[in-house]
Parts: sequence; C-alpha cells; structure tokens
Amino acid sequence: MINITFPDGSVRAYEKGVTGYEIAKGISPRLAEEVLAVAVKPAGDTTIGKGQTFDLNRPIEEDCSIMLLKWEDDEAKRVFWHSSSHLMAEALEDLFPGVKFGIGPAIENGFYYDVDLGGNQITDADFPKIEKRMLELAREKQDYTRIDVSKAEAMKHFEEKGDQYKCELISELEDGTITYYTNGHFTDLCRGPHLRNTEVIKAVKLTAIAGAYWRGDETRGQLTRIYGITFPKKSMLDEYLVVLEEAKKRDHRKLGKEMELFTFSPRVGMGLPLWLPRGSVMRFELEKFLRRKQNEYGYLPVVTPHIGGKDLYVTSGHYAKYGKDSFQPIHTPQEGEEYMLKPMNCPHHCEIFRSSPKSYKDLPFRLAEFGTVYRYEQSGELHGLTRVRSFTQDDAHMFVTPDQLKEEFEKVIDLILYVFKIFKFDKYTAQVSLRDPNNKTKYIGSDENWEKAENAIIEAAAEKGLKTVVEYGEAAFYGPKLDFMVKDAIGRKWQLGTIQVDYNLPERFQLEYTAPDGSKQRPVMIHRAPFGSIERFTAVLLEHTGGHLPLWLSPDQVKVLPISEKYSDFAKKVCSLLNNSDIRTSVDDRNETLGKRIREISLLRVPVLAIVGEKEVADGTVSVRREGADAGTMKLEDFVAWLKAEMAAELA
Ligand SMILES: [Zn+2]
Ligand SMILES: [Zn+2]
Repeated sequence: MINITFPDGSVRAYEKGVTGYEIAKGISPRLAEEVLAVAVKPAGDTTIGKGQTFDLNRPIEEDCSIMLLKWEDDEAKRVFWHSSSHLMAEALEDLFPGVKFGIGPAIENGFYYDVDLGGNQITDADFPKIEKRMLELAREKQDYTRIDVSKAEAMKHFEEKGDQYKCELISELEDGTITYYTNGHFTDLCRGPHLRNTEVIKAVKLTAIAGAYWRGDETRGQLTRIYGITFPKKSMLDEYLVVLEEAKKRDHRKLGKEMELFTFSPRVGMGLPLWLPRGSVMRFELEKFLRRKQNEYGYLPVVTPHIGGKDLYVTSGHYAKYGKDSFQPIHTPQEGEEYMLKPMNCPHHCEIFRSSPKSYKDLPFRLAEFGTVYRYEQSGELHGLTRVRSFTQDDAHMFVTPDQLKEEFEKVIDLILYVFKIFKFDKYTAQVSLRDPNNKTKYIGSDENWEKAENAIIEAAAEKGLKTVVEYGEAAFYGPKLDFMVKDAIGRKWQLGTIQVDYNLPERFQLEYTAPDGSKQRPVMIHRAPFGSIERFTAVLLEHTGGHLPLWLSPDQVKVLPISEKYSDFAKKVCSLLNNSDIRTSVDDRNETLGKRIREISLLRVPVLAIVGEKEVADGTVSVRREGADAGTMKLEDFVAWLKAEMAAELA
C-alpha cells in the first residue's frame, strides 16, 4: 500500500499502482469525468509548486501528495491542448499520407504542430476537413497509451517511417528514458502527459498556418506550423471565437490609429511611441487625475532627469544585473564619463531622500514622479503600447519605518482600488508574492523584517477585503509584493498595479533616518504604480472600453456640428462658450453631409455631439447625442451644467 496526501491535508492508503483516474472515481464518478490530469509530488518534496503532471492512467507507485487537475487549472489545459496536437497529427496522417512530424507543444491558447508535408500542400481552406476528421477520431474514444521503449527500438520505428525529425530527437535522448504515446493508429515520441482518451475533446478550431524553421534554425529546412485550439464543450469554443472577434475590434493599436492618439516611426526607433496631440491631451488628463489623488495622500512631486551617471546604477545594483541587456552607456567628450538612460526612477529618488537629513518625523516620505524610463526589449517582444522601449511610469516611492508598512500598504491599496473603480475594472484579484520558506537565504534583509512585511501585506489585503492568492517563492530577492490582475470587459486578464517592498535599495544607498532614541535607522522602501505605466494603462483602457473613454478623459469631449454652413457662426459661439467652461470642444463645419461627418467623427470616439440647425439657432439650444444615443435638446447653460454633472458622476 502507499499513502497519498490530498490538498486538504488528509491522507488515504491505496494499492501501489493506483491511477489518478481510479482515485478520482473513488471519490465521485462526477469528479472522474471532470478531472483531466493529476499533479504528483513525491513525499518529502518540500519544493514549491504542484509537482509533476501525470497522465490520469499512469500508475502511482510511491507515497506522494496529489492534486486532481480540472479544466480550470492551467496545467490541465496544457495537457488537453498538447493531447489535441496528437489528435491533429493523427488526422493529418489520415488525410495527407507521408506527412512527417517535428514537435507539437501546447501554447498559451491552444497548440501547434510543426509538420513536413512532403509533396502535400495545406492551406486554411483545408482546415474544415482536418477539423472534421479530428472530431471523428475524438469520438472513437481512443486511449492515449504510454509505452516505455528502448532507444534502439524507437530509432528503428521512426527510421522505417522515414521521419528524420523524430530520429534526430531520439538520438539526443538517453536510453531508458524514452516513451511513446499512441492514440488510434498514430504513434508519437513524447514524454507526455496526455489525456486518458480523445473523447473529452468536443470542439476543434484550427486557427492559423505559418512557416517555421526546424528547431528555430534558419539553416535547417522549413516546416509548416499548424495552430489550433480545442475545448471540452462546444459552447466554450463559441465563446472563445466571439471574444477573439471582439478582441480584434478592440485592438489598441487599431484604436490608437483611428482615434489619432499615438504613432510609431522607424526613424525614431522601434518601440518608441510618439504621442499625437489628442493622445497627449488624454495622457495629461490621466496624470492630472492621479496627481490630484496623490496630493490627498501626501505624495510630494519630484522631477528627475532621463539619464543618470553609470555609478548610480552600479550603486543600485541594476548595472550588474541588467547592464549587458540594457541600452549601453552614453559617452561624453570627457574621457571616461558615462551616463545611462534611466531604466527606473528609484535610484534618483533614493538620492533625493539622501539630499537632506531625515528624522522619524519626516516619515512616511513619499516621492511621486511621472518618470520616463528606457528598457531595451527584444524587437520581437515589442507590441503596440504594451511592450515598448520607452514608457512613463506613474511611479512613487515611500520611505517608511518598519512599523508604518502596514498602514502605508493599506493606503496604496485604497488608491489602486479607487483607480479600478473609476475605470470600471469591477473584476480583479490580487497575488501576494512571498519568500520560499524553504530557501530563506537567497533573500536580502533580516528574517524579522521579512516576517513583518509579509504579515503587513497579508493583513492589509485582508482588511481591505481583497480576494488574494498567496504564492510562495514568487517574491523578488529584495522584498515581498502585491500584484493586481484585472479582467476587462470581454473577460481577458491584464496585470495592472503593483506594490513592492524593498530592503535592498535603502541598504545599497545607505539611507537612514534618526529614530526617537537618537539612533540611526534604515527606512523600508515601497515602490508602487497603480497604472503600471501610462502606455500600458492606455492600451488596457482602450481594449477594455473599445475606445469609448469616459467623458472627463476624452481628448475631444464635444464636437459641435452645424447642419449646414448657414449655422456655422452659432456653432462657433457654442464652441467658445464650452471652451470657456473648460470643456474641450471643437466645431466640424466642413462642407460634407451631416451623416458623413458623424461617421468620420465616430472613429475618433468623441463622446458628445451637439447638433445645431435652424430651430436650435432660433431657440438658443443644441440637440445632444451621447455615445450615439439621443440625449435631447438643451438650452446652452443647461448643456454646460449637464456635461459637468456627467463628468462629476464618472469621477464620484
Ligand atoms: Zn505528447
Ligand atoms: Zn521603484
């Protein structure tokens, strides 16, 4: 018999060789239907994580702790999608005899398989045929069977098949570690894990086809990469396709162009966004919004340069850690003088803290800056405004005593939740990242301070009613942190907002304050950024709202449209009245039909249109449309009051 420990801590004895499926079935038949794989961790293994993922059919031979994995678990999805790549391979072998196979891993959303089609051609026109065959094979309820083979045997099999790709992979493996998996007539060299059988795959969609070099090496042959995604329910695929379609419409790169917010120029450089006038107005409003709130919380504004002496980053430790992968030092006419583009604002802020003596009465000392930083991202990683090489952090650093940590954390949580509320990110979770309790030596700072900080974060999060997951071993070497994840309007997750404790920089910069007893003490530093960066937040906000920004934030708040040129003068009068009331307004009196002008303006997503014609001129009114819907006819002074009330409601 072997002892198996469950996540709730209970222990049960089973026959040696019991499978995950049998264990699930013993608990409940319904559970057995839902479970896709099992995570197994040998007894005595104290490492972090769920352990190794096993096939549900694989015998468990030793004492261990297990976790039954369902679709909701990322590991289970990976097993599901990787198994689907085998199913696709089987279908391809049926439909295109002679096809050879490279590798077929699971990816973030679905899977792919790299294949050598030989003389065959596949285009996306073939997708329906392949999908149909995959579903037919899935319904046959083919078992994924694991077989141990010797290296010689494996080599012989794939040589006979003429699959040089698998032969190459086998030649690199050690004898005694090689396994096959079969489903139906398809045999693959694979270490698994896989599903029990194909029947759970109920919906299939092949999504793309592309060229891919064998093992990413362009001197080797080119293979065809076929991408797909599968689900255990048809309805899940339908939902996925709707989200995919919707995501395309909301792509912030597309919206940024239509709304004339930002652009890029190869001559300026990749990943270096250029903010257009409309985007800049929006950006200043975002900054104003946060600045106002930060003032309430006692933040002190600072401004620091875009560069810093190399020595600053040697002191901070950033040079040793990231120097090689960063923008390289800037040289001056002075021999040996070197500056770096700043990759973060913290070292500059540490120097500001040091610029005058501090006592405990000065703490918490909070410095805030919209600081532009430069990081050298690989060109392949760049993406719109979400991955750029220059971005502006809504940065702040708090220098506090260890006893002030918790209260300060609560204040930052309040600020972040305020931001989420105003921008209607109603669904969010937070992750508390703590030390690996079994490997405390790799962290800087005293045990006592770490415990204080970790407890402070956990208690602060609990008191603020945050839904948190605690991840051990995810803390940075210099301190624990709290990260927020939001769900956008179409259910996608984004990381937004982070609060990080830091024991390292105060140490490296020898920061100190005078305690009540006259002794010199080291402050603790907190880094925080509710938006993350203005660039990233803009991208997420555009994708969340589909470009329909709140009225207070829109670059153009009101567009005045005279029905014809006859009413231009009145339109201009309305416009200047609104501008005098601090409402960003312009007139569109181009000699085009009203319908055409409205269509063009809709791309800019101007939230309010004021239309004026003969009746409006006579009555001193405007006809108002808000986000495309009729909002009625208003007297001019009522219109101003209404706009102000709408904005006040958005910011309440
Ligand atoms: Zn496999
Ligand atoms: Zn920082």
